[in-house]
Amino acid sequence: MNSQDIRATFLKFFEDKKHSIVPSAPMVLKDDPTLMFVNAGMAPFKEYFLGNSEPKNNRITDSQKCLRVSGKHNDLEEVGYDTYHHTLFEMLGNWSFGDYFKKEAIAWAWELLTEVYKIDKDILYVTVFEGSDDDDNLKMDTEAYDIWKQYISEDRILKGNKKDNFWEMGEQGPCGPCSEIHVDIRSAEEKAKVDGKTLVNEDHPHVVEIWNLVFMQYNRKANGTLEGLPNKHIDTGMGFERLCMVLQNVRSNYDTDVFTPIIREIEAITGKDYDVDEKVDIAIRVISDHVRAVAFSIADGQLPSNTGAGYVIRRILRRAVRYGFTFLDKKEPFIYRLVNVLTEKMGAAFPELKAQKQLIENVIKEEEASFLRTLDQGLAILDRIVDNATDKQVSGSKVFELKDTYGFPEDLTDLILREKGFSYNKGEFNKRLKEQQGRGREASELKSDDWTDLIEDEDQEFIGYDQLEAKVKITKYRKV
Ligand code: ATP
Ligand code: MG
Ligand code: MG
Ligand code: MG
Repeated sequence: MNSQDIRATFLKFFEDKKHSIVPSAPMVLKDDPTLMFVNAGMAPFKEYFLGNSEPKNNRITDSQKCLRVSGKHNDLEEVGYDTYHHTLFEMLGNWSFGDYFKKEAIAWAWELLTEVYKIDKDILYVTVFEGSDDDDNLKMDTEAYDIWKQYISEDRILKGNKKDNFWEMGEQGPCGPCSEIHVDIRSAEEKAKVDGKTLVNEDHPHVVEIWNLVFMQYNRKANGTLEGLPNKHIDTGMGFERLCMVLQNVRSNYDTDVFTPIIREIEAITGKDYDVDEKVDIAIRVISDHVRAVAFSIADGQLPSNTGAGYVIRRILRRAVRYGFTFLDKKEPFIYRLVNVLTEKMGAAFPELKAQKQLIENVIKEEEASFLRTLDQGLAILDRIVDNATDKQVSGSKVFELKDTYGFPEDLTDLILREKGFSYNKGEFNKRLKEQQGRGREASELKSDDWTDLIEDEDQEFIGYDQLEAKVKITKYRKV
């Protein structure tokens, strides 16, 4: 089944169960100050869950574009390194607003997966919420457990903790216990290595969560406490690209027809082959992922810019440029050239891409060119530093200035220096970095052309934009 049919089959299945099919909402919700980007299918429906407004039909189904690069759900660091987390992905969902609840949600999920998509029952596992003895003091979800027992043997129903089985969109808002459905697509050899042990929620690339059924019954208030919602709701989210991986019988989302046309195009443009060298593979995955995020954002009206959501988009694109520059030897703009194949492939399901194609290409090309100029400028300065060096170790302070003033990434400096047989004084670099962090980071500083913070480095790691603080102080760091 190709990806178009997989998506259509999902929507049709729920339409037959009296759901209305609605188009994806834009990823940037202009009227929700608590969320920078839609990070789950339920975000656009928040007001229905809270009972503040009413849907036309209390059963809805859709495929929602989601972006997980900020706030509570931030997968950016995984992207490219693993094969199943994306920045932008589609979340297939079915919704009950105060209508059906656990019994139907579970029965239909099972029917769709095993009877319609014909996934082998023996590769499926499910999880239920085990309860919590913290301040929320929640009970185990025995109701879900008893329903699942009718479909799947009990040794395949696993109990999960709050982190995995209590779903919350952000720091506040509708939430509730959930049941996740996982697939185990390991080969016999992979299983033998761990004596067939189940690896649900252990970050194994071939044991992945595909569908989350959330039983919405609470609202997390601003003071952190839970209150019961006026009605109980169903909110489900299935990762479309992961589902395609299972149904197309491959082991990576990037081997599905959602990504292969883009990857083939990258290979054609760069002359590098996918699936040969791990570093090149990571770069190709990063670029094929990020071009989607950036293109869809622009189609939704969010241009790269110096502040807020636009700044996140700019940094995602620069992350892609940097991987192309460093690992695919692309020194001139090329990512914009991928928009064509993306539009061909996705334009039918997402007409906004087709409508905005020209704009998307122009914006990406200009952004790439401008950032490549920054990189060029940095390279020239680096050359001078090396020419003037008196020994094989250059000053950490100079490398810091290169990063701070010109936005030239430290890891790139490191790479280039090593290629030339040089190193730099890391201690001195870190000292300057700490001093700068000590001075605090004002939003104005972030407007400078820096972008490295999106990339992991030894001292700090970008973990996302804090939703509520977006206007004041937009970057958060976690010490690693
Ligand atoms: P994971 O544990 O794999 O990070 P999750 O529990 O964070 O997933 P949910 O918030 O439950 O994910 O979202 C519902 C579904 O969306 C998941 O079951 C998964 O199939 C899909 N999904 C979540 N995050 C991503 C992502 N970054 N890229 C692609 N699909 C994703
Ligand atoms: Mg996650
Ligand atoms: Mg999970
Ligand atoms: Mg989940």
